[in-house]
Amino acid sequence: MKRARFHLYGPLRDFLPREQRHGIVELAFRGPQTVKHLVESLGVPHPEVARIEVQGRGPVSWKHLVEDGETVHVYPYRPGEAWPFPHPPRFVADGHLGRLTAYLRLMGFDTLYNAAWEDPQLAHLAAAEERILLTRDQGLLKRNQVRFGYWLRALRPEEQLREVVRYFQLQRWVQPFRRCAKCNTPLEEVAKEQVAHRLPEYIRLHHHHFRHCPQCQRVYWAGSHVTRLQALFQRVLDEAAQG
Ligand SMILES: [Zn+2]
Repeated sequence: MKRARFHLYGPLRDFLPREQRHGIVELAFRGPQTVKHLVESLGVPHPEVARIEVQGRGPVSWKHLVEDGETVHVYPYRPGEAWPFPHPPRFVADGHLGRLTAYLRLMGFDTLYNAAWEDPQLAHLAAAEERILLTRDQGLLKRNQVRFGYWLRALRPEEQLREVVRYFQLQRWVQPFRRCAKCNTPLEEVAKEQVAHRLPEYIRLHHHHFRHCPQCQRVYWAGSHVTRLQALFQRVLDEAAQG
């Protein structure tokens, strides 16, 4: 039996059982085992790991075979570090994240979502289109194909938005109300005459500027829901900027 000690830092500790949240775990294992296999056996999906260092030998790759007695340091991404993620970030969200998807699109982020997509499709899309996979499913993030990804800690969509904006430091790319919440298509300015027949009377009387989605034809205007969303986005952005 071989033994190795793992030090996990920052948000990577969220994957450990409560009694191990201090971040130091000793593992016993047999045979040749890669550091990827052992780290993921602790619950940590590889896309959240920025780098791994073995004490005495410096950074190692995921294929490193862990030796008896080694101490392995596992580091998360830190906001502001040089990240390998696509810029501006593009996302694909799992089928439980409909509200988060709408928020991200309304902030201007290209986000794919389809409640019918299964894990293999989600992993394939993330890899093929260099998208960041957002999910509540840790197992999905552990698929080898997935390069960029994040496990949502929170259950409430507003909290999830806060997490994503802070983790990926999205504030520099935000373009509010430029993308369709329903289908992800960039919105276009449209003259009132062109959409007037599709508006409720009150809206027709009180609003003069409209955008519409050329794909699904949905019409957007700066109503009270937009005011509420602007307030939410501002709160989330202010918090992210504070680190
Ligand atoms: Zn649309």
